[in-house]
Amino acid sequence: MSSEQQNLFGLFEPAPGVHKAPPATDGVVFERSPRARNYRLTLRRDGTAVAVIPARGSVREAERFVAQHTDWLARARARQERRPRGAEVWTLGTHVLWRGEMTEIRQAAIGERPQVCLAADVFRVPAFDGDLRPTLEAHFARRGKIELPARTWELSAVTGVEVKQVTVRNQRSRWGSCSANGTISLNWRLVQTPEFVRDYIIYHELMHLREMNHSARFWARVEEVCPGWREAEKWIKRNGSLMGL
Ligand SMILES: [Zn+2]
Repeated sequence: MSSEQQNLFGLFEPAPGVHKAPPATDGVVFERSPRARNYRLTLRRDGTAVAVIPARGSVREAERFVAQHTDWLARARARQERRPRGAEVWTLGTHVLWRGEMTEIRQAAIGERPQVCLAADVFRVPAFDGDLRPTLEAHFARRGKIELPARTWELSAVTGVEVKQVTVRNQRSRWGSCSANGTISLNWRLVQTPEFVRDYIIYHELMHLREMNHSARFWARVEEVCPGWREAEKWIKRNGSLMGL
């Protein structure tokens, strides 16, 4: 697999070790577009910088292009920082991403304290009025801290890849990461994604414990344990901004 292709799929992670990219491209995702006529740099609402490579372009050329536009990117990032983050208010009736589906927040008619339900899950809230988002996101994070390590241990057993520790955090721009000492860190927002996406991210990090790079060998390992990984990457690209990262 060429370095271009690896960059395509190395979402949120510059492909290390393949070739030396200038530091200006740190955190920039490279995407090849058959329809693009020029190199283009954009900053998505989720904070991901995307460099578009035209049909006949190269990653190297795209890297040079990004390096020439670092000032623009810095200004765009600064503008984004000034915008209030997560400004969207959640109330009864709002549809939010939960376990892979846009799910309506409904009032639950059970219990003495106010509760809402999202599909089959019930969550306590301080009151039905006001912004439910901070409370619900705290609930989601708590679920993530319970469910994601459990699933990681399961898939660790399935794949035989030894994991020392699993941490669940609120990562701004990553779904998962891992370190050579065997620690896997996951974004709690993975509880909001469909199971096949959550599993893919876990498999991805597990395979990094075998191959600490995005080499062809790495992707062959991913393919072996998670044949649906391309679909998962597609889902992530389409829906990443729904996560409010
Ligand atoms: Zn990776």
